[in-house]
Amino acid sequence: MSGNKQGLERQSRFEQGDDVVVMKFGGTSVEDATAIRRVIGIVRSRAQSRLKAHSVVVVSALARVTDQLLEAGTAAANGHLGAALAAVRDIYVRHEQLADSLVDGSAYSALDGELRGEFRALESLLLDLEASRQLDTQSRDHLLGFGECFSSRLIKEALCQAGIQAVHVDARACIVTDARHGQASPVWDVTEQRLQEAVSPLLQSGVVAVLGGFIASTSGGVPTTLGRGGSDFTAAIVGAALGAARVEIWTDVDGIMTTDPKLCSDARVIRKMSFDEAAELAHFGAKVLHPAMLAPAIRENIPVYVLNSRRPEREGTEIMGRARAKTGKSVSAITAKRNVAAVEIQSARVNSELLHTVYAVFDRHACAVDVMATSLGCISVLVDSASALPAIAAELRGVAEVRWENHKALVCLVGENIRRQPEVASRAFAAVSDMDVRVVCQGASDRTISFLVEEARLEESIRRLHGIFFPELQPVRDWGGNSSSYCQAG
Ligand code: ADP
Ligand code: ASP
Ligand code: MG
Repeated sequence: MSGNKQGLERQSRFEQGDDVVVMKFGGTSVEDATAIRRVIGIVRSRAQSRLKAHSVVVVSALARVTDQLLEAGTAAANGHLGAALAAVRDIYVRHEQLADSLVDGSAYSALDGELRGEFRALESLLLDLEASRQLDTQSRDHLLGFGECFSSRLIKEALCQAGIQAVHVDARACIVTDARHGQASPVWDVTEQRLQEAVSPLLQSGVVAVLGGFIASTSGGVPTTLGRGGSDFTAAIVGAALGAARVEIWTDVDGIMTTDPKLCSDARVIRKMSFDEAAELAHFGAKVLHPAMLAPAIRENIPVYVLNSRRPEREGTEIMGRARAKTGKSVSAITAKRNVAAVEIQSARVNSELLHTVYAVFDRHACAVDVMATSLGCISVLVDSASALPAIAAELRGVAEVRWENHKALVCLVGENIRRQPEVASRAFAAVSDMDVRVVCQGASDRTISFLVEEARLEESIRRLHGIFFPELQPVRDWGGNSSSYCQAG
């Protein structure tokens, strides 16, 4: 993509006043007919807005479908084909029923034909998995992508039925990635070119382009995915390629909050946030944004809005360049990553050669290393899942001894210059001084302080920290709603 435009006026590739808006709807935002009707209302409101927006819609699979596909694939690979086929039939029936309630006449027949075609391809993949008795990362990507193939066709037809001109664009034909299955990265130049060729003419003629999120393919056409939660990343990729004026992430919460509202009911909406802070938050486990999605938005300086599809009238969170998002707050948000394993790699000789070997082995097992520290005779690493560790330990035998502890959670405080304010760390550690805080990690940036707690005490630690760093907020009753929010921008 075309260089860093931070601080410059971002240039839309369309006439002034004809801004491109990329709207991404997550699984819960398209979970049933009521939710899809809300999506239609939101898309229509953009088309009718003063801005005359050109709209691109990116959709996730319907809520729970990706997990169900994974379960079905695992069952098939374990020889339980009957259970696998029954599970995907349920997925098909759910889409079929939605098609029935949202689309009429010949459009329904055409959609039904498309869904049946996808369903047959899915069944045949399950048969292959049963025959091969394995679900490797390549087949897994192929399998999981069916959710977005189903949902994007359904939503496109529902939009048309509601009188909005929409065309389905095959994301796998436009978004080209490397072959790192399960976590693929886009090959920018070709992706940008293909998106412009496929989407721009539609937008120019006033048609809404609808793409499945999360899915892509290699240059050889092998299906890949952008990682779990990757539809956010798709929206940012599309936004960057088309020079969008804004990327909107429509989800099930009122915006980015001071912490995950599922962990702490006192969490409040943050109205404005810097790109950097939001990127840290996503990296350290805030599921509301895919960790890779902010990079394209930062590069092209495209503001990102996080909005609630159930309450579209709310302002949500605006994520933008640092200068405009100055908050004056020491801690902007607190986030947490569950299921972390703390790994110690012990060896008589910790040197660059050993580090290289260790990285290569973890990489070969697709085991992402989060934080790394070395000391005499020991390398400490955090990983998101312990599943690959027995194999990694076996491979490193003779070179180093690998030990790990499971059931940890990484708690992270995020805020501009947080590490230059020592009182933040001392207040945080005082709050959890009676807990087993095992490893303290200071990230490479100035914006985070993070530490490990026992997973069982995660919610308690988050509630305590939230109480300390967000006690003085004046809840504002706003927009006629019930829940509170506060504005960080000065
Ligand atoms: P979608 O299906 O729309 O992509 P996700 O489930 O991926 O939605 O992300 C939304 C969820 O992210 C929320 O329901 C919330 O529990 C979780 N979340 C975690 N941290 C935060 C945070 N700081 N602010 C808002 N939501 C958060
Ligand atoms: N459906 C995919 C997932 O569940 C991608 C997404 O929802 O963004 O991970
Ligand atoms: Mg998500």
